[in-house]
Amino acid sequence: MDAYIYQGDLTCEDCKAKIERQLVKKGATDTGDSDDYPQGPYPDGGGEADTAQYCGMCNVFLENPLTNYGSEDVKERIAEDIKSGKYNPVSIGTWIDFYDVTLKELVEDGLLDLGDIVKLLKGYPKAKK
Ligand SMILES: [Zn+2]
Repeated sequence: MDAYIYQGDLTCEDCKAKIERQLVKKGATDTGDSDDYPQGPYPDGGGEADTAQYCGMCNVFLENPLTNYGSEDVKERIAEDIKSGKYNPVSIGTWIDFYDVTLKELVEDGLLDLGDIVKLLKGYPKAKK
């Protein structure tokens, strides 16, 4: 997905269009400076980054590729959420699918062990308060 930069935030195409409409109403023009007017498009959600990138306005996932560091970080967070037994719509619902993370990878990277897998197979225990 294409991303745009406006006042230090990444935005999606829809939000960029909204910002532009508001700016045009105020009589602003594109100065070429992202502090004044949205700049872009930047393909692949703004490009490779150390974290999964989200629109600063509506929080939609921008589908950016990850650096090696970012990829490790995403896998660690997925593994933590699997261990915690809570369904996290961000890590488990979105990242596993988009970044193509497999259980095999998580085990091979030492992030999950057999005990965690057994827990998964038995079903999660109820979350403690
Ligand atoms: Zn947005």
